[in-house]
Amino acid sequence: NKEIDFDDEDDDLLLKSVNECEADITKNSTKSQLPLALGDGQIIPLQKFRHGYLWVSDLSSQSWCEQQMFYKFTVPGVIEENPAMAKGTDLHLARELAAHDVVQVQVTSNEDIWAIKVLNLLTAINAFQFGQTIAREVPIFGVPFKEEDIFVVGLIDELRFDPENYTIDLSELKTRTSRMNPSKAITKQHKIQVMLYKRLFDNIVKGNLSKNTIAKHLRLDLNKQFGDQIVKHLEEKAIINKNLNDLMDHVFEKMQSLTCINQLHVEYVYQDTSETLSHVTHPYDEGEIKTLYLDYLKFWKGERSPIGVDIEEAWKCQRCDFESICEWRTKKSEECAQRNIQMNHLY
Ligand code: SF4
Repeated sequence: NKEIDFDDEDDDLLLKSVNECEADITKNSTKSQLPLALGDGQIIPLQKFRHGYLWVSDLSSQSWCEQQMFYKFTVPGVIEENPAMAKGTDLHLARELAAHDVVQVQVTSNEDIWAIKVLNLLTAINAFQFGQTIAREVPIFGVPFKEEDIFVVGLIDELRFDPENYTIDLSELKTRTSRMNPSKAITKQHKIQVMLYKRLFDNIVKGNLSKNTIAKHLRLDLNKQFGDQIVKHLEEKAIINKNLNDLMDHVFEKMQSLTCINQLHVEYVYQDTSETLSHVTHPYDEGEIKTLYLDYLKFWKGERSPIGVDIEEAWKCQRCDFESICEWRTKKSEECAQRNIQMNHLY
């Protein structure tokens, strides 16, 4: 059985934008103050594939196989949604709808799109302050480590607030097509994901993210007036802010009254029955996540070519959609043959 990891970071928000404005972000990317090209004029992967900022799911897929992630960007039409993926999405949606209603909102600018993300984060904070203990599909964003000025965006499946001990735990839902325990490689991938979420969340709680940083990376005008529908939604929530400048001040002030994330959990659910198979709790290791993250960024900044799996993890190739075209795998097989390594069968 393939191990399938369903991420819906790019998908849904509590308030959902009807009119996506990603095209505007692409168009404006040439105005970025961030590095765009290598010395030979080649556009770096961060700009070429991701418009200048990353998703947490990019980094967790990279931990599985960077070469595979690269092929997903560059080889069109190989990966198609299958019934298992659709089931995984349905399970996520069912959990989301159990926590809150979803409202469709017309957006007219990138500033409106980001207003929705910020507003959905505010909804989670308010939920805790008004007695709720669970918030789902919580947007999170920022610069994970100041050593690299790269912006990362994510969507946390679930935050659980314990008012008695004043703690917040994070829980990520992963659906599985088999009852088997997840492999070490899958577990590592999910650990990276939840550690990055914690780092981003804690940075805001500690006051380490400024609105100017967000505006610079996302090329947003903090003083641009929101569209009518966003203003209407804000007014319904008794928020009088009409631009990101004021809205972010309001949300960040509230975030700083919260506490950092305490524990990191991953819940594995069997797709066929929706029953929980296991809970894994990961200790947060800042040294580990920082080292991995900084290494992954070398690819995104164009400092190195994509890397495939090590010989020890060549079993991943057997379940890879790009096995027949993978140059990394071919190169490694040839190296093994030349050195007459008995591990030939691995590649
Ligand atoms: Fe990675 Fe192996 Fe797939 Fe190549 S065949 S992309 S090395 S998993």
